[in-house]
Amino acid sequence: MTDILFIGRDDNAEATVLAALDPESYALYRVRTVAEANNLLAGQRFDALIIDFDDASSGPGFDLAQLLGLFLFVPTIALLEEFTPEVAVQLVQFGAQDSLIKSDLNSQRLSVSIQCAISRAQMAHFDSLTGLPNRALLFDRLTHAINQSRRYDQELAVLFIDLDRFKFVNDTMGHEAGDTVLKTAASRIRDCLRDSDTVARLGGDEFIALVTNLDRAVSAANVANKIVESVSLPVMISGNAATVSPSIGIALFPDDAEDADELMRYADAAMYQAKQAGGECYQFYRPDMNSAALRRIGLGVALQRAIRDNEFELHYQPQVDLNNGRVVGLEALVRWRHPERGLIPPDQFIPLAEELGLMPALGDLILGLACMQIADWQKRDLPVLRVAVNLSAQQFNQDDLLEHVQQWIARTGIEASLLEIELTESSIMNDPESVAIILGHLSQAGVRVSIDDFGTGYSSLAYLKRFPLDSLKIDQSFVRDVNHDASDGAIVRTVIALAQHLGLHVVAEGVESVEQLNFLRANNCGFAQGFYFSRPVVADEVFDVIARLEGNSSQPALNSLLLEA
Ligand code: C2E
Ligand code: CA
Ligand code: CA
Repeated sequence: MTDILFIGRDDNAEATVLAALDPESYALYRVRTVAEANNLLAGQRFDALIIDFDDASSGPGFDLAQLLGLFLFVPTIALLEEFTPEVAVQLVQFGAQDSLIKSDLNSQRLSVSIQCAISRAQMAHFDSLTGLPNRALLFDRLTHAINQSRRYDQELAVLFIDLDRFKFVNDTMGHEAGDTVLKTAASRIRDCLRDSDTVARLGGDEFIALVTNLDRAVSAANVANKIVESVSLPVMISGNAATVSPSIGIALFPDDAEDADELMRYADAAMYQAKQAGGECYQFYRPDMNSAALRRIGLGVALQRAIRDNEFELHYQPQVDLNNGRVVGLEALVRWRHPERGLIPPDQFIPLAEELGLMPALGDLILGLACMQIADWQKRDLPVLRVAVNLSAQQFNQDDLLEHVQQWIARTGIEASLLEIELTESSIMNDPESVAIILGHLSQAGVRVSIDDFGTGYSSLAYLKRFPLDSLKIDQSFVRDVNHDASDGAIVRTVIALAQHLGLHVVAEGVESVEQLNFLRANNCGFAQGFYFSRPVVADEVFDVIARLEGNSSQPALNSLLLEA
């Protein structure tokens, strides 16, 4: 049975929905206001929400801020009188997975829409390999559980579980075997817990078990013991036994910490101690255990040295104007040229740099490299192109970010308008008030600003409008399936409409095929970037690539690339 919650005041709308739902498979509940919905959702889980959006966006008992909180983790369908650009914009703001026009409502449409909303939310909040909640959903559940425990004066435990020898199994028996081991471990951990507890996968071989409503610390130890026993049993894979075992760290609310981040960090630190003790065991957190950063100290030292010795270089990927085929700018992407390990991609060291607090130093180095490169091209009378530099959230917490940017501009003598900064939606939403101030200064200084990976965070439009932005970059995950997944197509179209509405440029990222390009052009997307045009290349190759793209060389020209489209 699929449980649906209808939110709205309009009895006719509710009746229409009810009539369209097959009573064999769906149960419909109803509340009139968002406040009532919030209360209900605190104690009961629904598979999907249907919200009367006309009512929601204009009616009295609807508080928009409350709405945002609701929409975050429950699949949501908006019911509309008609679909207008303003509504499209609001739907993005709320993160609704789907929408339906009231007059078009019928049984088949509704059930397709519900299934689609559920599977979109599933993809966003669950790990595809194990089917367990991912990090984002875990944090939501953990925060929720902490609030409940506080209210009812209960204890809860966070178990940080890491598999010993997983890398060995993966390397010697292959990735498929590795996947099987992860799936088996996931279901074994799940079986050690009650249904009301949460098991999540953080990524790699790391899992979290969230045990609520504990009696005494002893029962957290019991759960941990069960997990150690069951996960350590061999997994048979085509006749061979793969054996991994768990190292578990436990942190308790409220004894060890009272907020989600701290509980996770402490459980992680305790897990590290369990590993140090030989693995296949658990440890409770003790205040004398060091932070999780300790375990990465090896790479951390190397990274610090690399920043001192400047072992980084930027590669550049062209951004193309889809109206005339010209290259209008470049995105700078950092790589670490490690003396022994060769070229290391950013995904492998940026998160570590952030964790170790090295990002301000590394970020400054990157800004400097980009500005010096622009100045160098200018000096050699090469065409001047705008360069976009990625900034990490941490750089925004730096008081002197603006000074650093201005210093580099002054030192290299480049035009400020040749520099663009990219920041992700989530790093803005961390602390929108102060980010708005910094962005205001940057844009006054002439630097352009764009939002990266747009569509993956939960931006509030109210804020978006207040930021001095130049462009939105549509995240490559939406572009990837734009031709095959109707909802990705709809999202891309909506972001384009949203950008137009806000007077911003829109850049599609990760364009790999002529089909994707066709879709983007047909929907008036202004700019694009991706392997279809060029991979990121070293500075010396940039102008060869541009020549090829713009057709000043013997190689196939971009205009022919666009003509094909
Ligand atoms: P991003 O800012 O979203 O950068 C785009 C990534 O997509 C780049 O990966 C790029 O090489 C890749 N890409 C470009 N076109 C295509 C395509 O058609 N298909 C596919 N599959 N991928 C494409 P890269 O260089 O590995 O960078 C990964 C991420 O690391 C970046 O994502 C960004 O978040 C971060 N990063 C890179 N350079 C910097 C930097 O200088 N500072 C900071 N703070 N972060 C950086
Ligand atoms: Ca970027
Ligand atoms: Ca991006």
